[in-house]
Amino acid sequence: MPRAVVTGGAGFLGSHLCDRLLAEGMEVVVLDNLITGSTDNIAHLMGNPRFRFIKYDVTEYIFLDGPVDYIFHLASPASPVDFPTKPIQILKVNALGTHKALGLARAKRARFFLASTSEIYGDPLVHPQTEDYLGNVNPVGIRGVYDEAKRFAEAMTMAYHRYHGIPVRIVRIFNTYGERMRLDDGRVVPNFIGQALRHEPITVYGNGKQTRSFCYVSDLIEGFWRLMMSEHTGPINIGNPDERTMLEFAQEIKRLTHSKSEIVFVPLPTSDDPKQRKPDITRAKTLLGWEPKVPLAEGLERTIAYFKKRLDL
Ligand code: UDP
Repeated sequence: MPRAVVTGGAGFLGSHLCDRLLAEGMEVVVLDNLITGSTDNIAHLMGNPRFRFIKYDVTEYIFLDGPVDYIFHLASPASPVDFPTKPIQILKVNALGTHKALGLARAKRARFFLASTSEIYGDPLVHPQTEDYLGNVNPVGIRGVYDEAKRFAEAMTMAYHRYHGIPVRIVRIFNTYGERMRLDDGRVVPNFIGQALRHEPITVYGNGKQTRSFCYVSDLIEGFWRLMMSEHTGPINIGNPDERTMLEFAQEIKRLTHSKSEIVFVPLPTSDDPKQRKPDITRAKTLLGWEPKVPLAEGLERTIAYFKKRLDL
């Protein structure tokens, strides 16, 4: 039975990945220090004999008994609200944690998967973003701790690949949403849905003309799986190119929740909020035969139902 390690496996994406790996017949070991993850996300897996959860900070040396075939390195706070509140942990988990996880891959002769991000493109000057765009990142901005840490993680991953011959896969994840996002995550999807369901003002930051492109979680996990099982190192963008302004997005959520909320404009919390973001997914389409299937309204309906349940509404 193939055995996979998922760092950050108690997080939003990590827990969905665990579901998929178990469904594929793998044994799964999760390492997570729970600073942003939660055991709620994996509670349904706790009785499964093929599943093991270890509360662990992967910035420390990782020792694990037995063989490991696949390592998925997802551990990292990833919401912009974490950037000013957990800056050192973000830098450490992507630098030291990536190094430790790669060390484990080397020791176990495992295939290594790095969850990178569209943030490595910074506030992009090329639109949509292709993988060969090198980015426009402010290293000393509030977002720099995440952007630069992920850029370092990609460089470290490629160094282990080139120098030690470790098989690696790098995915660049664009905005993703779905069940198990933290209610207080601070990102636009939980903020807008929570506000709309409570009929509180929906807070559009800045002028609301900035764009994002949202991918439903099941599509993203399918992309992860295909990339890991492929022969392609990447980096490969995985995301949904359906681009919206934040004002349009607020209106769509208000419509889907039948909310009485008013839409209000509030100052942007950080100055380097990317003005536009949309993945070019030509590589994923041609190399992996992957493209997103779930339309925004459908994915949002499912996410809204989840938030309603969690908020007891
Ligand atoms: N945003 C917003 N209202 C909110 C939260 C976020 O208008 O209550 C905007 C934010 O300025 C950004 C976009 O929504 O332009 C996406 O923000 P998010 O925090 O989800 O992640 P990002 O894509 O910036 O990493």
